[in-house]
Amino acid sequence: MLLFCPTCSNVLTVEEGTGPSSYRFACQTCPYVYNITKKISSKKYPKLKEVDDVLGGKEAWENVDSTEERCPKCEHDRAYFMQIQTRSADEPMTTFYKCCKCGHRWRE
Ligand SMILES: [Zn+2]
Ligand SMILES: [Zn+2]
Repeated sequence: MLLFCPTCSNVLTVEEGTGPSSYRFACQTCPYVYNITKKISSKKYPKLKEVDDVLGGKEAWENVDSTEERCPKCEHDRAYFMQIQTRSADEPMTTFYKCCKCGHRWRE
């Protein structure tokens, strides 16, 4: 995970925090420190299960493009697809599909 200092734009490093199970981002070139607890960080990066719940909504799949992708359930060869950032910004996007025919959903 790579973060940049909001004041001097240098790369922040992760350090052990003062409290239990806490850590912080600290800038090596200026006094900027950002304290962060594990509780907050798990909130920032939703688990894929939660993402699935978000995608379960009908509205989520309106106006999305379809692509040539075989449905693992009914073998239809077109599916709607969406790319979503599920974790931190430096990890690749996750692609979600929804079968155009049977509505089955899966992810890459
Ligand atoms: Zn700085
Ligand atoms: Zn299908």
